[in-house]
Formats: sequence, structure tokens, C-alpha cells
Amino acid sequence: MKKTFVTAEQLQEIVKKYPTPFHLYDEKGIRENARRLNSAFAWNPGFKEYFAVKATPNPAILKILKEEGCGVDCSTLTELMMSEKVGFGGNEIMFSSNVTPEEDFVLARRLNSIINLDDITHIDFLERVAGLPETVCCRYNPGNDFKVSSRIMDTPADAKYGFTYEQLVEGFMRLKDKGVKHFGLHSFLVSNTLEHMYYPSLAKTLFKRAVELNKKTGAHIAFINLSGGIGIPYRPEQQEVDIFAISRGVQEAFEEILVPAGMDDVAIFTELGRYMTGPYGCLVATAIHRKNIYKDYIGLDACAANLMRPAMYGAYHHITVMGKENEPHDHKYDVTGGLCENNDKFAIDRMLPKIDIGDLVVIHDTGAHGYAMGYNYNGKLRSAEVLLKEDGSTELIRRAETPADYFATFDFTGIF
Ligand SMILES: *Cc1c(COP(=O)(O)O)cnc(C)c1O
Repeated sequence: MKKTFVTAEQLQEIVKKYPTPFHLYDEKGIRENARRLNSAFAWNPGFKEYFAVKATPNPAILKILKEEGCGVDCSTLTELMMSEKVGFGGNEIMFSSNVTPEEDFVLARRLNSIINLDDITHIDFLERVAGLPETVCCRYNPGNDFKVSSRIMDTPADAKYGFTYEQLVEGFMRLKDKGVKHFGLHSFLVSNTLEHMYYPSLAKTLFKRAVELNKKTGAHIAFINLSGGIGIPYRPEQQEVDIFAISRGVQEAFEEILVPAGMDDVAIFTELGRYMTGPYGCLVATAIHRKNIYKDYIGLDACAANLMRPAMYGAYHHITVMGKENEPHDHKYDVTGGLCENNDKFAIDRMLPKIDIGDLVVIHDTGAHGYAMGYNYNGKLRSAEVLLKEDGSTELIRRAETPADYFATFDFTGIF
């Protein structure tokens, strides 16, 4: 059974202060998980996790992760700006962008970030608009050489990201000629996988390529970035990954491939998003309507604009009706929001306890790619974000939008 990280009693108190809907984050869970990751990879002295800002772009969350020794992975101008405000700089920022606008590279260079190039043509582009740094990372797309199945990302050959191997060879040589001294290699092939072999298989592929590239071009490979993709158990029957077992698999590949090649100084980097915060956030909503036609519906004050994953991918998010955890789940509901889109359903045919108007409904695992994917369709406003701190107190870490925010980009002067 999946449990919420707040009790029904705690939540009753919290909603007196913050009206639903809102996303709630668990500071204790985030910190403990970050420590677990860092200790799992402690065998690698240079290890660093660069939290994927896009998963949960909130300064309070970034600050917690910074205190736990994490850097940030940014891919846009505003993610860089937010990271700068939180105090990240230099090699605490990995800039992994694609289709990169000029101004983004300019800011990334001003912050002295590590730059991860998505394409060989970006070498000249970066040099022209912002100059080349001493260390450059290149993103690798292994094409059909790396077979994985994933519902979110297709086979690498169909993905828009990265360099081919031939382009890596050419790119490393050109970068070396232009004075680049240290290199990184990056690849991101699967999203949300609970498969323990994903990181070790990816590590093997990248380690082998790193040895070949070092031999062919003489480039010094300073780090290998395994990027994101480790999944979380959204469904109650799924098991959380064993990060220590995953790390051991990477270590074995390291000892098998890099150490004999004399490359034991290579640092391992990750850019995890979902794994870092996903389970430690939830969307808190109130049941505001019940409707019985051909099916039974429960209408919430939250909608897909607060959490798009179910509408977008048919993603499963577990639901707990607070205070009714132990009641029989003998009612079949579609749990919906109020968008004028029939895919605005948090759950379809879900067996739940009988829901009454006013019940607090918790939608689990919204700590990553939850609020972040929010939007304003139908003029719906984005919700607040609240932090449940380690001492049990709460802090508003982003206020809810108001109609004034929605209208802020219009200028009505002179229209009427
Ligand atoms: C989205 C993304 C991540 C994080 O992915 P998760 O699936 O949340 O771990 C990491 N790196 C890059 C470049 C990304 O685009």
C-alpha cells in the first residue's frame, strides 16, 4: 500500500492555512534521498548529481538540494537565471540544452557553467556567440546500438538529441584544436525506468566510447554524465529501485573498462530529476462535485493544468482519500478536473473508498514533472507550492497565481 508522507490530521491543519489545490513537498524525504544517492556513489571521488531543474523549478527545493551537495542541470535561460539566484555557479551548473538560443549560451558562459553541446554545429555557434570554455561536454546519441524500451522516449535513433559517434570524433578533434582541454561525455536515453541495468548498460556504452575517443583524439575525458532517467514506483505494485545496486553496476563497468585504460580519474555525474523529488511531492485537492451519469465522477478543485502527466501520457498517479485510508475501496470512480477536455482525468475506473464532497484527496508522486508542466489552458491558474519542513512546520514556497497574473501579459490600454 502506498502511503502519503503527511497524515490526515496534519493535512487538515495545513489546509486551514493554504487553500487547495497546492503541491506539497517533503523536505525530509528529499534530503534523505539525496544523501542515499551521494553515499551510493561515494566510491567515485568526483561524483556529482546535477538536479534537472525542469523537474521542480522552485528556488526553495534547489536550495535544499544545494545544501545536500547537488548541482543543477539547466537547459534554458530562465532555469539558469533561477539557479544563479539560488547561488549556483561555475561547475555546479551543467547546461544541457538543445536548439539553444544565443542568449542562453551567453548567460551559461557568464556563469561559467559546464556546457553540454547537443550538436556538432553548436561548436562554431558557441564559439561565435560566447567563446569556448576549457571544458566541454558532448551529448552522444548511440542510434540503434542501444536497445531499450520506454513508453516516454523512443529508440535513440528516433530521438532528436546528441552527436553520432563519428561526429563525436570530429567534434572532439575540432574542440581540441580550438584549445579545449577537458571533455565530458553525456547521454540520456530512457525516461522513468525502474530497470536496474539501465545505468550500468549506459555506463558501459559511454565508458567504451570514452576510451576509444581518448585513443583516437588524445582528448582528456574528465567526466561521464549518465544524465537522468531513473524511475520511481508510481504504482503500488512497483518497487523502488535499489540505488546502491545500480551504483555497484556502474562501478563494475568502471573497473572493467576505464581503470585498465588508465582512466580512473573520470568523475561520474548524474542529472536526475524524477528520482530526486518525484515521490516527495503530492498534489492536495478537495472533492468539490460528484456526478452520476453512465459512470460515477468525482470532480476536484485541481485539474490537468496542475498535473498534466495523466492527460498527456495516461500516466498512473496513486490517489489517497485522506482519513479513509482503511475503508473498503468499493466505489469505482473517474476522478476529474474541470478543463473542457475529456482527458482531464486524474484516474479512470479507480477503486476508491466512497468520496464525499469536501474530502481531501491526495494525488501521489507529483514532486517532479508535476507543477513544472503546469499551464494556463481554459484560464486555469497555477496552484501554490508548500514545503513541509523537517520540523513539521510549513512554508509557502510559491504563491498561487491570481487573475492578475493571468492578465499581466496583456495591455488593455486603447483596446476599447
Ligand atoms: C529531463 C532531463 C533530465 C532529467 O530526467 P528525469 O527523467 O527527470 O531523471 C536530465 N537531463 C536532461 C538533459 C533532461 O532533459
